[in-house]
Amino acid sequence: MQAQEQENAALPRTIALDGAQGEGGGQILRTSLALSVATGQPVAIENIRAGRAKPGLMRQHLACVNAAAEISGARVEGAELGAQSLRFAPGAVRAGAYQFTVASAGSCLLVLQTVLPPLLLAGAPSRVQLRGGTHNPMAPPFHFLERAFAPLVRRLGADLQLVLRRAGFYPAGGGEVEATIVPAAGLLQPFDLLERGEARERHAECLAPGLARHVPTRELETLGAALGWSGEQLRYGTARQDEGPGNALMATLVHANVTEVFTAFGEKTLSAEQVAHALVKEVRAFLQSEAAVGPHLADQLALLLALATWQSGQAAAFTCSEVTEHTRTNCAVIERFLPVRFAIASRRAASTVRVAPAG
Ligand code: ATP
Repeated sequence: MQAQEQENAALPRTIALDGAQGEGGGQILRTSLALSVATGQPVAIENIRAGRAKPGLMRQHLACVNAAAEISGARVEGAELGAQSLRFAPGAVRAGAYQFTVASAGSCLLVLQTVLPPLLLAGAPSRVQLRGGTHNPMAPPFHFLERAFAPLVRRLGADLQLVLRRAGFYPAGGGEVEATIVPAAGLLQPFDLLERGEARERHAECLAPGLARHVPTRELETLGAALGWSGEQLRYGTARQDEGPGNALMATLVHANVTEVFTAFGEKTLSAEQVAHALVKEVRAFLQSEAAVGPHLADQLALLLALATWQSGQAAAFTCSEVTEHTRTNCAVIERFLPVRFAIASRRAASTVRVAPAG
């Protein structure tokens, strides 16, 4: 073999991805960046967010690309607003102290979603300060990550601690979150999450900074009447007035094996009652199923468990109330980077997602 051929053979193979596949959104980009850095495999993505009305990299996606590049010293081509193709070649992931800001009110927690997997596998703890939106539609809200997602990271043997310094809502943004990420002492350990277990606590909480008091009151009363929740179960959140205007209505369901958090967001065009009913619908769908987790936790748990399966060589499984196109697409992208295979069995009462070592 010639020297150049030998050198090429030693380089990790670039993974070519079509961003139009499946759900065709930003999740393909974020999961690819996370796993490219975690595994050291370069990635080339075409047709980024082809399934969206405004395709290509928006500000919040660019923030994810830049953050992934910063923690890995990556070589990047195409990191520009509106770009629909990107080449990303990471170096080794570096634990450390980082600050990432999403200009505009884009979700800073989608940036965390991008850098968390590789930092969970780094050789030392990291401290990540994030600025931007903390309670955005179509992104994991802070309270969901803190109460539902972070405990599952801990169950893998690693640690994720989150502090909300300031809430940030669309359109003003300006929220601040501090994340401390501690890798597992040994390998990440996968687990099965097949049953949610007995109900321990249920409550709703309304963040409505900068809005008239009757807004959270009506949202909480409507939700309480529909779900039969009352008294201590209906709470005004603790956002400061200057963090608004903004409105997030959240339902927290604590079960023996898992906590779920569902969120509905207020908008100028929606009445308080409509916001409450949107949340009631999500909570009912989950409670009427027998599943351990809801649709959003499902796509995020799939990635965590896949990392642990890859590291440990052991299979894992969970049940979810709905297998979204988002989850299916995420699983397909994960399979391109990690030697794991997903098997999804969809059933009415609860679908099961299994991840096992490939081959
Ligand atoms: P885009 O193409 O605009 O970038 P996307 O379609 O890739 O977005 P979304 O559907 O907006 O992505 O979801 C992004 C991530 O945020 C997913 O992991 C999803 O599960 C999570 N997410 C969205 N809404 C919620 C919510 N209410 N609670 C928890 N997680 C959420």
